[in-house]
Amino acid sequence: MTQTATAPEARTQAENLDLLADVAVNVGLGLRPGQELVMTSSLDSVTLARRITEHAYRAGASLVTTLFNDEESALLRYRHAPDASFDYAAKWLYDGMAAAFKSGAARLAIAGTNPALLSSEDPYKVGRANRAVSQAYRPALNLITRHEINWTIVAGATPAWAAAVFPDNAPDEALTKLWEAIFTTTRIRTADPVSAWQTHDAELQKHAAFMNAKRYYALHYRGPGTDFRLGLADDHEWLGGGTTAGNGVYCIPNMPTEEIFSAPHKDRADGTVTATKPLSHQGTMIEGIQVRFENGRIVDAHATRGQEVLEKLIDTDEGARRLGEVALVPHSSPIAQSGLVFFNTLFDENAASHIALGQSYSSCLRDGDKLPAEELAARGANDSLIHVDWMIGSAELDIDGIAASGAAEPLMRGGEWAVTV
Ligand code: ZN
Ligand code: ZN
Repeated sequence: MTQTATAPEARTQAENLDLLADVAVNVGLGLRPGQELVMTSSLDSVTLARRITEHAYRAGASLVTTLFNDEESALLRYRHAPDASFDYAAKWLYDGMAAAFKSGAARLAIAGTNPALLSSEDPYKVGRANRAVSQAYRPALNLITRHEINWTIVAGATPAWAAAVFPDNAPDEALTKLWEAIFTTTRIRTADPVSAWQTHDAELQKHAAFMNAKRYYALHYRGPGTDFRLGLADDHEWLGGGTTAGNGVYCIPNMPTEEIFSAPHKDRADGTVTATKPLSHQGTMIEGIQVRFENGRIVDAHATRGQEVLEKLIDTDEGARRLGEVALVPHSSPIAQSGLVFFNTLFDENAASHIALGQSYSSCLRDGDKLPAEELAARGANDSLIHVDWMIGSAELDIDGIAASGAAEPLMRGGEWAVTV
């Protein structure tokens, strides 16, 4: 691994990009000598993609194949393609990716899209196109979500994404600011980013292990507009940071990542929760969300803005009114401290403690990946077509862990961990 001798504040953009690529390949992916790499990137992120390619070959990659996409070209489809196009996806391409993963390739995605790209396109066409891709990608995506291969996601700033995050700045300034935010939140602006990531990963693992040893029955949240008790699924497991993939390679799938997360019990949420950040859903901002749960189900939902979108969202199916994820993030994490809304799940999901409406992760239950759907449901795992994270953490949130005996223990106070691990 390369280390720069330059002090963090004196580094050039090129040095920071190189460090990000080094961390992505050698810490995020843990790429093995002789391993193939399949990368996806926006054309706007080609500079980062080249740095990652160099680090991958220096780590011994046998072949790096990058699939570039272009947002302008994606829009041309909506302008000019025949209607039947929107039920179509390049299945041959996704089958090829699945074949590459099965033969040992690692996967790296450079995230960074214009969050408003499709906001003025026909939602019916957008929905059909998304569904076609979901179906075609499923065999390859299953290998990723089951962690059979080592994979990671890192972010690359693009002009359109930067304009959405910093609408009041000139294009060049906005792009510089977004890169700065990416470097800060991915711990690149530290003396030694590789060891900063190793320390951070160890902290996440320790907190997950603490929660797994405690085996709390429920969590109790208290804060402004929030008094909420959330039961945890039977046999739940807390996860966070890196994981050893099925191919034996240790990888950290998301960069940044700040959360430890688990599966709540779909029938055991009671009380009122108020969101602490706006929720960006399919190009719409839902603000001022306040929801009341009874026996795990949302019985009352309000938003000061985007109420209709919220109602439509929770009416998607029965599971959309119930919770599928609980995640703890301290308020001192770099993303929370940035105070930014990134309009990108990789960052926004790691900005605060959150819960998610909809689908659970089967990996958050002991041996969950091997259990049939009925068994997962019997343990309290939720099933839905949606998985939408919403932020409920703040500097004013207190959380207690509730033992099976009913005894309460302080877990977080004022948004920070109240336990030493
Ligand atoms: Zn999460
Ligand atoms: Zn989530």
